[in-house]
Amino acid sequence: MNESQPFDKISLLRLAFNGLADVELQEMAGLTDLRTYPPDHVLCHEGVYEDIFYIVADGTASISKNISEEDGERILRIAGKGDLIGEMALIQNVPRAATVRTITDCTVLEMDKKDFETMLGRSPHMAINIIRTTLDRIRENDQIAIRELQNTNKVLRHLDRNKLQFIQVAAHELRTPLTVLKGYVNVLSSFPDIKTNSALGEVMEGILKGADRMHEVVNMMLDVTRIDSETLKIAAVPVPLKRMIHDTVHSFAKIAMERSIELVIEQDVNTPNINGDPTLIQKAVYHLIVNAIKYTPNGGKVVLRSRPIVMEKEMPGVEISVKDTGIGLDAEQHELVFEKFYQVGDVTIHSSGKTSYKGGGPGLGLAIVRGVARAHGGKAWVESLGHDEVNFTGSTFYLQLPVDPPSDQLNK
Ligand code: ATP
Ligand code: MG
Repeated sequence: MNESQPFDKISLLRLAFNGLADVELQEMAGLTDLRTYPPDHVLCHEGVYEDIFYIVADGTASISKNISEEDGERILRIAGKGDLIGEMALIQNVPRAATVRTITDCTVLEMDKKDFETMLGRSPHMAINIIRTTLDRIRENDQIAIRELQNTNKVLRHLDRNKLQFIQVAAHELRTPLTVLKGYVNVLSSFPDIKTNSALGEVMEGILKGADRMHEVVNMMLDVTRIDSETLKIAAVPVPLKRMIHDTVHSFAKIAMERSIELVIEQDVNTPNINGDPTLIQKAVYHLIVNAIKYTPNGGKVVLRSRPIVMEKEMPGVEISVKDTGIGLDAEQHELVFEKFYQVGDVTIHSSGKTSYKGGGPGLGLAIVRGVARAHGGKAWVESLGHDEVNFTGSTFYLQLPVDPPSDQLNK
């Protein structure tokens, strides 16, 4: 740090605060010191309480902020002649919001906090100037943040598209050899040697069961790429909803009995039939029931309800809900679980089996449910008091569908 006086304090202060009377400028100049710092000198340290307000007289300084551990420090802007530095933290009485580091030799006018506050109290012109500068800066920061978010969103959308394409290719590539494998196993199973050998029969059954499960996962991968809400158009036909829900629930009767889970259907008699894609809607209901059973311990209860509702814009619709007495979901997971391949907790500790308690799965079921909802102009969400494996307060998943899907969702 070295003292230097080649700068005219008054004209610099006039540049920083236009509209200040000469007496105010004089008074202010008397309270400031001119100093020159070498490059790479830190004037403000992010997160630290500091007492000095600066006006840049010459040179440049970078203003940067630590974004996160992974993203490191990001330069927000470059300050030059006439720019104010560090006034916001002094006014708010908070630690510095950013780090300010000189880039070149940098001459600054310095004023300490006490004098800064005295001047602010005494000079309405200066106060208004500072407010204006601060508001401009906040607006500028907002614009930067919005632009960054827009760019990040674009990148994320692109990555999501790549991911979907990869899933699609992988699923197609897996499906063909799987079908061949199942064909050969079926042929082998019919050989007399195997038919009469119970140990070998069991092995064949195991292989077939595994191949079937793989087939199911591959089909789910294809479903999720197809149901991607932005591209899917549906062919709407009348869907006998009450009957469909009833039949889907009943297809789980044996599994529920094995797990001692009580399956209850409570459909409002006025539940309307809707127009939509019956295969997709059936898949959505199916995944909600599988989940309810999978995340509910033995002895629990799953209740399926349906009722007529009025949706936005007075649209008639139907609400299907699946309530369980399972492990529940913490609030921060309520949106994430609808993401493709998202699972709560450590995937490696899952037990195997589609409907066994906390059994595994690729994490696609709820992405399919939400995709189906959106493709019909409806929505899907979850309500739960939180993850609780002591009291098992459970979760309720909702699926709302309009009686008639909006015309822009229809396959024309
Ligand atoms: P998949 O459905 O692809 O076989 P999955 O069941 O793990 O696998 P999703 O159905 O998408 O995937 O569910 C995502 C995550 O949401 C699950 O891994 C689970 O952690 C949580 N979850 C889903 N349904 C429930 C539920 N009824 N109760 C508690 N947690 C649930
Ligand atoms: Mg699931």
